Amino acid sequence: MAKSSGQLAGHVARKRFGQNFLVSTGIIQQIVDAIAPRAGETVVEIGPGLGALTEPLLACIDHLQVVEIDRDLIARLRQCWPAERLTVHEGDALAFDFSALKRTGPLKIVGNLPYNISSPLLFHLVESAPVVHDMHFMLQKEVVDRMVAEPGSSAFGRLSVMLQYHYHMECLFTVPPDAFEPPPKVMSAIVRLIPRDKRKVGADEATALQGGRAKNALFAVADGDTAQHAENDTAKDEALFARIVAAAFGQRRKMLRNTLRGFINEADLTALDISPTARAEELGVGEYVRLANALTNTLT
Ligand code: SAM
Repeated sequence: MAKSSGQLAGHVARKRFGQNFLVSTGIIQQIVDAIAPRAGETVVEIGPGLGALTEPLLACIDHLQVVEIDRDLIARLRQCWPAERLTVHEGDALAFDFSALKRTGPLKIVGNLPYNISSPLLFHLVESAPVVHDMHFMLQKEVVDRMVAEPGSSAFGRLSVMLQYHYHMECLFTVPPDAFEPPPKVMSAIVRLIPRDKRKVGADEATALQGGRAKNALFAVADGDTAQHAENDTAKDEALFARIVAAAFGQRRKMLRNTLRGFINEADLTALDISPTARAEELGVGEYVRLANALTNTLT
């Protein structure tokens, strides 16, 4: 099923489905090595397309589940692999309930994602974080940069905060346009996401913080402030946390005293040691959690 270089096996790539098919065998191998699928794991591929990743994944495991929207490609996939090896879920990954999947082992979600829906898909997948072991995705490099961005940088936004709250993330390597057919106009990158065990994060990072501030610690905390740090890892009301983050970044050029007016007044922001004149990107994930938890405490 997988194409040889430059070929699309008679299929015309559909722009509306973000179809840029992988043709570089070297890159395909690098991706499968990063995913490292093992017998017994439940692996789900989003957007299998012509099977560039599907085929090498099925060389490692007995059974794979895929979610594909393009009916022509679904028919091809069903012709190529029997149902005992490949379960094809026909439909939109944005509406697919990954947490309801039948699992026989740790759940891995992978895919060379359609770039036109990557942000909403990443937000949708957050709902599955509690049941996921790990995820590996090909995305536009600019999106990966935003996912792993640090507070204070222009790339740090709602996507960064929401994903960093739920996952440890790592950009593994970049992929040039000529690895695809047709080639996209942008650079791509492979990112690994591992859900945080939020109850454990405080302990992990408290250990890392011993003897000084941890390099790249995700949550901004004062040195030696590990007990408070642990408390600030988990939002007591995650829906409120998400609403606050959305409001702050909804108008990212405005000051927090304006964007968060519906949640908190200027004096209370100051009392929380958060500058009312700061802008959304200046706060770290932990500060958004602290803010949400302070408001949860007030409301309950
Ligand atoms: N995995 C193949 C590869 O690497 O060559 C194809 C990747 S292509 C970038 C994206 C794939 O996602 C296509 O097969 C496309 O039809 C599929 N797709 C696009 N939108 C989708 C959606 N909303 N739900 C499920 N699949 C979708």
